[in-house]
Amino acid sequence: MTNITSLPDLRQARRLVVKVGSALLVEGGKARSEWVAALAAEIAGLRQDADVIVVSSGAIALGAAKLGLPKGGRGSLADAQAAASVGQVELARLWSEALGRHDLTAAQMLVTLDDLEDRRRYLNASATLARLLDAGAVPVVNENDSVATEEIRFGDNDRLAARVAQAAGADAVLLLSDVDGLYDRDPRESGATLVERVEGVTPEIIAMATAESASGLGSGGMLAKLQAARIAERAGIALAIVNGTHASPIAHALGRNLGTLFVAQSDTSARKAWLGGRLAPSGVLTVDSGCMAALDRGASVLAAGVTGIEGDFKRGDLVAIHGPTGERLGQGLVEYNSAECRAILGLREDQQARKLGYAPRAAVIHRDHMVRT
Ligand code: GLU
Repeated sequence: MTNITSLPDLRQARRLVVKVGSALLVEGGKARSEWVAALAAEIAGLRQDADVIVVSSGAIALGAAKLGLPKGGRGSLADAQAAASVGQVELARLWSEALGRHDLTAAQMLVTLDDLEDRRRYLNASATLARLLDAGAVPVVNENDSVATEEIRFGDNDRLAARVAQAAGADAVLLLSDVDGLYDRDPRESGATLVERVEGVTPEIIAMATAESASGLGSGGMLAKLQAARIAERAGIALAIVNGTHASPIAHALGRNLGTLFVAQSDTSARKAWLGGRLAPSGVLTVDSGCMAALDRGASVLAAGVTGIEGDFKRGDLVAIHGPTGERLGQGLVEYNSAECRAILGLREDQQARKLGYAPRAAVIHRDHMVRT
């Protein structure tokens, strides 16, 4: 669990997701390039001590203006899909240029709900994020609106940001919005007060929210933000809603302690929380004593330490890990199907490559996707 208990603590985050809403990025159908440039400078600053992932909306709003579609492209799903295709090109260029001015490389990643719910695809998305961050890039994520249908859509980038944070093992999410944060009642009512800190999204907290987005440009109203906060808090991730309308919004909010912070409510790390409550394992990997000792030191399960395999499973399935005498050591998402596991059992990395005919993955079960019992 992170020790993020107030907004200024967000500076301690080692891996941070910054979500930018459409209303901040787009004005009158045009990208607010200067504002993005200032934010990119802030991101470059944060990057000195932390990994940063951007979740950026704006594709639909930008594309709708270009195509001349009514209602900001949100009149129908077909309009939204077409607008997103056009706008995403511009959005990627916007980020690439803004981050490029600070020698940062933007990496576009478009995901659908399924990519983060299906276990095999979750592993893929998670591995791609890890590799990009490792390689020094700044992933810029959006929903793949052009192909996502109504049933399989996140629909708002707030929840998407929380899921991305989970997949990336981030410790905090910063939602840049067009409001200061969560108010205890409709902010247009007199006497409405900003809630500084939330310890658990309870029904009372939900009751404070209104569903619509104030600007009408994005789709994430306060309700979507609270759902995002709920996903985050259960995954041990802190989430903040701050006003992004200022020139350098992160410094503004953190410096003045202005916004709402949802404190993490779980001490399991992000990916491990996702593993919690999964189905019964589809198979068993038995490991030798060397591997068992390595697991105690926090290592992953490597093929070299696996001595036996039971069951028929696919990549991304949950499998149990047993020690040499059959004792249960834990469980995790397996990186290979059962046939591949059998082929590489006991082999070192160089031998695995020859056997598989492709570069092997870093582990059979990566420690990030494993829970110990
Ligand atoms: N993915 C949408 C876009 O790029 C935004 C979704 C949202 O409003 O949160 O326009």
